[in-house]
Amino acid sequence: MEGRTARVYYDEPDLRSLDAHVVGITPDGVVLDRTIFYPEGGGQRGDSGMMDDQKVLSTRKEDGDIVHIVGDPGRFQPGQGVHLELDWEPRWRIMQAHTAQHMIAGTLYNAFSIGTVAIHLGDEELTVETDRSDIPVATLYEVERIVNEAILADRKVSYLEMEHDEAAGLALRRPIKVSGQVRLVRIEDVDLIACGGIHVPSTARIGLVTYASSETIRGHVRTFWRYGRSAWEHIHMQREVLSRLSSMLSAPVPDTPEALSRLLDETRALKAEVRQRDALVASMMLERGEKVFVSPVELSAYQRLSSPDRRFFTVYDRGGRLDWLLCANDGVFSRLKERFAAFSMKGGGRSPLYQGSAECGVDELVCFMEGLLDG
Ligand SMILES: [Zn+2]
Repeated sequence: MEGRTARVYYDEPDLRSLDAHVVGITPDGVVLDRTIFYPEGGGQRGDSGMMDDQKVLSTRKEDGDIVHIVGDPGRFQPGQGVHLELDWEPRWRIMQAHTAQHMIAGTLYNAFSIGTVAIHLGDEELTVETDRSDIPVATLYEVERIVNEAILADRKVSYLEMEHDEAAGLALRRPIKVSGQVRLVRIEDVDLIACGGIHVPSTARIGLVTYASSETIRGHVRTFWRYGRSAWEHIHMQREVLSRLSSMLSAPVPDTPEALSRLLDETRALKAEVRQRDALVASMMLERGEKVFVSPVELSAYQRLSSPDRRFFTVYDRGGRLDWLLCANDGVFSRLKERFAAFSMKGGGRSPLYQGSAECGVDELVCFMEGLLDG
């Protein structure tokens, strides 16, 4: 045993409370003869909970001792008996996440020779960054299947202690980072790796692992996974979304992609029809011969109708904001531009087409433009 604290969390990871004795006080914490509080390290935060009536904010390793960080360490004395209570929910999740992560990384390696370069354990989600730049999604679903088969089979999680050289001879999937005595975690038929972390005693305690998504980062595929309760919640959320889509589309769930695809085709066809009608309306408006007018259709319909031998100005009222379009030469636009501030106008373009928006009354702008284009 290193330091003065016996690591009860290794032998009994399920223990939520424990009686222990104070063996030392530090400026911000208390050292005990034994503990169930796991210290911060390897990307895992330190456990929190209660020591008698004091909140344990975190737990840290200092010179081999395990220090329980409390608000008032001076309240405790060496030799004093204390009672520990763990914040169980976050600790339970980190045990599930650690175990699930070994199962995913071990399966990626054993079944597909895909290595792991980094991991992150979150409360809801865990990530495994691989050494590949591309992984077919079917491979990740297969990993998900193998991992869940192992969860159903309730594989035992056990530990081996050995010297570094002996462990190095086992050719593990990841190099061993520590020297001296090495602690290996073995998940029966799934993975064997050096890890000082804390795990569930058997795989069924994870409940479920689901593949969520992937992204490419630094040229590596980083995969996102859900585990335990958050995996169920994720499935529930997806089911809710599907059920809403199904009722909005009035189609059974398996038919929703087809129904949505039909709806999108219809929308595309309708938009094309509207564009055609708008173009017809726009050319009729120009045939009437008015140089300045309020348009009943969106101004994109006039873009193809502009030419150097035409001169017109039109606005479209979006309710509160106006779109404007000018077909004229650069001289006319320059004179309009001088009044931009007065009409709260924005925009620009190149002869013969200028476009933009304005925040002013339709009548005042139309009146000004009539003067400009008639002059
Ligand atoms: Zn681990």
